[in-house]
Amino acid sequence: MSLTVGRIYGIPIQIDYSWFIIFLLIAWTVGFDLMPINYPGLGFLDELVIGVVSSLALFASVLIHELAHSVVAKRSGMKITRITLFLFGGVSEIADEPSTANLELKMALAGPLTSLALAGVLNAAWFLSVFVNASVLIQAPLQYIAWVNEVVAAFNLIPAFPMDGGRVLRSLIWRRNGDLLASTRSAASVGRAISYVIMGIGAFFLIFLLEIFTGLWLLLIGWFIASGARSSLSQLIIEEGMKKSTAREMMSSKVDVVQPNLTLSDLHDMIIRQGHNGYPVIEDGQLVGCVTIDDFRKVKKEEWGNVFVKDVMTPRSEVPTVGMDESGQVVVHLMNSSRLGRVIVVDSQGKLAGIITRSDVLRMMQMREAAAIETVAVHSSRQKIMSVNSGMYFELQEQLMQGYDWVAEFDPNFFQLARSWVDAGVQGVMIKKFNFLAMRPGTSTITLHQIAQPTPSRPATRGGIYVRYTISIIGPASQIANQ
Ligand SMILES: [Zn+2]
Repeated sequence: MSLTVGRIYGIPIQIDYSWFIIFLLIAWTVGFDLMPINYPGLGFLDELVIGVVSSLALFASVLIHELAHSVVAKRSGMKITRITLFLFGGVSEIADEPSTANLELKMALAGPLTSLALAGVLNAAWFLSVFVNASVLIQAPLQYIAWVNEVVAAFNLIPAFPMDGGRVLRSLIWRRNGDLLASTRSAASVGRAISYVIMGIGAFFLIFLLEIFTGLWLLLIGWFIASGARSSLSQLIIEEGMKKSTAREMMSSKVDVVQPNLTLSDLHDMIIRQGHNGYPVIEDGQLVGCVTIDDFRKVKKEEWGNVFVKDVMTPRSEVPTVGMDESGQVVVHLMNSSRLGRVIVVDSQGKLAGIITRSDVLRMMQMREAAAIETVAVHSSRQKIMSVNSGMYFELQEQLMQGYDWVAEFDPNFFQLARSWVDAGVQGVMIKKFNFLAMRPGTSTITLHQIAQPTPSRPATRGGIYVRYTISIIGPASQIANQ
C-alpha cells in the first residue's frame, strides 16, 4: 500500500507505508541517540527538531538519488512508471530494460554519483556552518545528511544485483558478451552470494554479539537483495521469451465491457455471472478506465447499490494501455508494474481492441515452450524421406500455430508448387498444405520453414522450426496422377 505525494519531472512519486517506520526510526535515532553524544546539552525540543529535519532530509536525499536514475532513463526515451520510497530506500520503476550496456551503465551510475556530489556540497556547507559558528540546529542536520549521502552512495555501489553496483557489474559483463540474459544470470548469482554473506554477518551480530537491531536489519537487507535478484532474473526470462510476440497475438479480442454509470451491485452480479475479475470501462466507444474486484473494497457492501463504477474505477491515465503492435516484452513489463494485473490493447484510433491478462501471458509462454521443444525435435528426427514418381502431384502438410505460417523452399528444377492452402483439421487444428508437382527424376529436398507472420512494424521472420524432406523422384511415370 502506498501514497502518491506528487509528480516531479512528470514522474509520480509514491511513499509506501513501510517508509513511515524508517522515518520515525531515523528521527528517533538521530534526535535522541546521536545528538546527546555529538552535541551534548541540547534540549528535548532541539533534539526532536534535528531528528525530524534529518529524517526529512534523508527522504529528500534518497528521492534525489532515484530522480537521477529516472532522469537519465527518461532522457534516453524510456518510460518511468513511478518512484517509490519504502523501508529500504527508494526504487525507480522503469517500463523497459535498458537497450544497451552503455545506457545501463550510465543509468546505474547516475544515482550513486549524484549522492556523492550531494555529499560533497553538504560537507562544504557543514564546514562553512562550523566556520561561521551557525546554530546547532543547522550544523547537526548538515553533518548528518552529508554522512547519509556518502552511505547511500557506498551502499548502492555494493555489486549485488539488482542494486546499482550490481547493475554496473551486469552492464560491464553485458558489454563484453553482448548477451543481456547471460549477463543478468551472472550478476544475479554474484548478488545472491553477497546477500548470503550479509545475512551471515547479520546472524553473527544477532547470535554472538547479541546486537539484535543490527543483526535483524542485516538479515532483512540480505533477504531483500536475494529476493530482488531472483525476481529480476525470472521477470527478465519471461520478458525475453515474450520479445517476439506482439500484443495482437496475446490479446483476447472478445472483451466484455461496462459503462461508467453501472452500480457496483449490478457489476457484482456481472462478475458472478461471467467469471471475470475486471472490466474495461467504456463511454461513447472510448476507454475511460478499468474496474476490478479489488475496487469493491473501497466501498461498504450496503452502499454498492448507490455507488457507480466511475466512482471507484482506475482512471484511463493510470490504466496500462498498449498499441496492437507493441512487443510482448513491454506488455509483460507493464503488467508487472501495475496492480491491475491486465493490459488494455487499443487500435490506432484509441478504441478498445482487446485485453491481455496474466492467463493470456501464461498461455503464450506455454505455446512458445511447445515451439522450443519442437525445434529440438526437428533437428533430431524431423528429417523425412519419401519417394514420388516424376510427373506426379504430391502433398506436404504441417500444423499451424497462431501468428505463424509455413513457407516452402525448393529447387525449381525438380519441383513446381501447384498450390498451398490452409485447412481445419481434427479438433479445429489448422493445417497448412502444399501441393507439388515432381518434375524430373533425381533426388532433391523441400524444406518447410515456420515463419512468424509479418506485422506493420516487423517483417516476416523465420523461426527455428523447419522440416526437411529429402525426396527421391523415380520415373519416368507411365501415367500422370492428378488430384
Ligand atoms: Zn540507485
